[in-house]
Amino acid sequence: MRLDGHIHTGLRGDYCGTDENTRQKLMKNLRAAGFDGGVILSADPIKCAAMGAEGRMEDALSVCRGEENLFPLYWINPLESDALSQVERAVELGFDGFKMICSQYNPGCPECLDVLAKIASLGKPVLFHSGICWDGFNSANNNRPGNFEALIDIPNLRFTLAHVSWPWYDECIAVYGKFLNAHYARPDISCEMFIDLTPGTPRGYREEVFRHMVASEYEYRYNLIFGTDSLTTAYNVSWAKEWQERDDALYDKYVREDVEDFKDHVYRLNLLRFLGKSDENPQQKIPMVADYAGDV
Ligand SMILES: [Zn+2]
Repeated sequence: MRLDGHIHTGLRGDYCGTDENTRQKLMKNLRAAGFDGGVILSADPIKCAAMGAEGRMEDALSVCRGEENLFPLYWINPLESDALSQVERAVELGFDGFKMICSQYNPGCPECLDVLAKIASLGKPVLFHSGICWDGFNSANNNRPGNFEALIDIPNLRFTLAHVSWPWYDECIAVYGKFLNAHYARPDISCEMFIDLTPGTPRGYREEVFRHMVASEYEYRYNLIFGTDSLTTAYNVSWAKEWQERDDALYDKYVREDVEDFKDHVYRLNLLRFLGKSDENPQQKIPMVADYAGDV
């Protein structure tokens, strides 16, 4: 089974409401692309402000209703005055996690950290956009992966950075290594970082990113999640198939051990663990500088 970890509803603010036909068409398209389900992100709180928080929640929930492998995440704007109560309401209604794009705030700002602490206390994860963002705002300084170090002190937070932070994939890899290593310096840390592989990387850069990432000394098997950025209302089957084929060929080329298990994690198991729907408890290797390997 494969799952698409990144599907939008109402991305452009031009769609409100989901009916039975939309859901059936989405499921048909997902299956045609080789998926049994995936993550459904609610509408943009800025572009779709007119829908209201309840309207955006209902819109995403209605896509997922009755489908055990569709997982709704609520897109929250921590600058809204009732953001903390929106967190509670979304969890009460059955959302499996949250989505944020830091268009107009820094991830380390007090409003954002308060909302993240609340989300983590309820056991839910957060999917962040990261990298240059096609949001129409001056937002690059907010979306650099280094900013997300601010999350390290939030207990039990699971978060993922989308698009491998394109074009700052090297910085994304460095922050990921930092989060892994942090367990050595501070074993009390319980915040975990995942990487959402949703394209952002243009096709010509994909191998460059994977060569640096998958074949590097850090442990990636348990923290990469595949996604497409497709829309519920117009799921792009050929795009989804093309990226899986490209990525699969790169895994075959660069993963040194048990490549089928690696793919099963990237396309299914890591997303389920991110969402809190898996009991897998991987023992990740802590990367160290000049790791002592005994006397020669
Ligand atoms: Zn997206």
